[in-house]
Amino acid sequence: MTDKVKKSEAEWRAELTPAQFHVMREKGTEPAFTGQYWDDHTPGIFVCAGCGAPLFDSSAKFDSGTGWPSFFKAIDDKSVATEADHSHFMVRTEALCAKCDAHLGHVFDDGPGPTGLRFCMNSASLKLVPKK
Ligand code: FE
Repeated sequence: MTDKVKKSEAEWRAELTPAQFHVMREKGTEPAFTGQYWDDHTPGIFVCAGCGAPLFDSSAKFDSGTGWPSFFKAIDDKSVATEADHSHFMVRTEALCAKCDAHLGHVFDDGPGPTGLRFCMNSASLKLVPKK
């Protein structure tokens, strides 16, 4: 289905900013309230900062109060992959770009309706393409 984007660590390091590389390829987390998009309400499509795959529509963005851009659903059921994450002595659901396997953030089940989900994303993993 989705053609995977595979690149070496050196290739990603050359293409991404250090902050993007840390979040997307090393599963880092940007400090809350520091990213580009947590308080951005521009209508548009959020695409993967690594491979450009569409991930979230701004219509699913909500104010979570966490300081990270938060969405109650992904743009479709194939673009954002999830995986169990047992790091940091917690059990969480990791969200990844299905196309390039970039770490995006985590998914929690305390979001607003209709899905009840909260995709807690890092701004560093996203690029907003404003609606024209
Ligand atoms: Fe990607």
